[in-house]
Amino acid sequence: MNILKIIVLGSGSIIPTKYRFSTSFLIEYSMGRILLDIGPGTIEKLRRMNVHPNSIDRLFITHFHLDHTLDLPALIKIRMFNELGGANKNPRILDVYGPTGLMSFIDKLSSINGVYGYLSEMMRNLDFLRIHEIGGGLVEDLKNLKVYAASVEHYNGLAYRLEVDSVTIAYSGDSTYDERMIKLAESVDILIHECSFPKELLLGKHTSDEELVEIGRRTKPKLLVVNHLYPAWEGREEELEDKLRKDTGCRVYVVKDMDVIYV
Ligand SMILES: [Zn+2]
Ligand SMILES: [Zn+2]
Repeated sequence: MNILKIIVLGSGSIIPTKYRFSTSFLIEYSMGRILLDIGPGTIEKLRRMNVHPNSIDRLFITHFHLDHTLDLPALIKIRMFNELGGANKNPRILDVYGPTGLMSFIDKLSSINGVYGYLSEMMRNLDFLRIHEIGGGLVEDLKNLKVYAASVEHYNGLAYRLEVDSVTIAYSGDSTYDERMIKLAESVDILIHECSFPKELLLGKHTSDEELVEIGRRTKPKLLVVNHLYPAWEGREEELEDKLRKDTGCRVYVVKDMDVIYV
């Protein structure tokens, strides 16, 4: 039997703390490797995990904030080379999924007049990026991988639900308390949800611990994985985990960077 592996590459915000930095998760399953978001530090964390970026098959982007996307240009550039640093004549296709605006986002990075315009010619010749600008509903249906998406309240944000091998995983990206997320995540095996701030310090379009209790109670995941912690949580992780466990009745795991979850 295949074991599904979830590697926490980034579990924090844009502000680095002792154990956390910007968001990314790697899922290894029977058919390949999937990245959820690609914040700064993702490539370095892959290196530390001995995973070459050229081995990633699919990337699901929740939204375009830089703590979720900054390593994308690096991933594109790396893809142009083989593992010995020579030209990659036949790069593996990289499927990139994301909300409306994904095409123009990548275009602004790598078209001839883009920020990294020097990549454009090589990319045109190689043509290895497959860009999927998606809305809600079923967005991918492959052997051992079905993916659903839903809009959530966070700057054109998407959340995902993946049915991967026989495991269901929902991933909030950044979001407020949102009914659409709750519907998407109903009865999943694993819910990866942000919990940026304690209730009394909640800022912006994010989720607090109090709100996450309600989300956990309503969606009833077998495991609640808590991420996107701002520095306000530093040193309070155990308290957060205990509270969520007690108040939701779920198994709860407040993750830090480089944690590995075997399913
Ligand atoms: Zn954000
Ligand atoms: Zn974020």
